[in-house]
Amino acid sequence: MDRKQFLSRSLRTLAGAALAGPAILQAQACGTALTAAEEPPPPTQPLAPLAFAQLPLPYAYEALEPSVDKLTMEIHYGKHHAAYVKNVNDAIRDEGVAATSEADLFAHVSKLSAKVRNNAGGAWNHNFFWQVMAPGKGGAPTGRVLDAINGGFGSFEKFKEVFTDASMKRFGSGWAWLVSDNGTLAIGSTPNQDNPLMDVSDLKGTPLLALDVWEHAYYLKYQNKRNEYVANWWQVVDWDAVAQRLG
Ligand code: MN
Repeated sequence: MDRKQFLSRSLRTLAGAALAGPAILQAQACGTALTAAEEPPPPTQPLAPLAFAQLPLPYAYEALEPSVDKLTMEIHYGKHHAAYVKNVNDAIRDEGVAATSEADLFAHVSKLSAKVRNNAGGAWNHNFFWQVMAPGKGGAPTGRVLDAINGGFGSFEKFKEVFTDASMKRFGSGWAWLVSDNGTLAIGSTPNQDNPLMDVSDLKGTPLLALDVWEHAYYLKYQNKRNEYVANWWQVVDWDAVAQRLG
């Protein structure tokens, strides 16, 4: 068989296979008798789009007084946070965003719209923020958290200085963060509703603690005095919640 004959025969074989394919499949389907107990599985449904949820506030609106006042909490949780959650879910649906999880969405957020980025961050960041505060907390961390802070920053007092500095130097709206990057602690801040899980963020790692420094978080009680808000906020930091996130 010369090269020309070989090619010709190969092409005929391919054509035959292509024609035979559907017929073979059809014959198999017809030839398989299904009993009632062997009904075929339902057709695969398209995956439901990812949806962010607003977690319940784990304490009453007034619980963090006097550090965070009741009216600020009502508006912050009930209006601002609720709006981020609604808006991100609208955007995910309208824009056909395919993400398998919140973390997956953040890891690719540079490819998504500003509406998704801002509102996904707003939804997630506030869920996180409510969980790392609690009434009757504050004070200094103990155990592994204290060890990690001492290892990373020298002392708890020095850590508070660096975190406060990050909170104060974030110009405009944003967040201050304590993150763990494979066990190494770092402090930084993000603009707007960005967070350290986002591919666009300079600061990266697993968030352990966060402080919202948007004016909506403090202006009713503290007006322009962000420094007083930050100083009083330490009294409601839940170090047990930080310890859980340190792993
Ligand atoms: Mn906020």
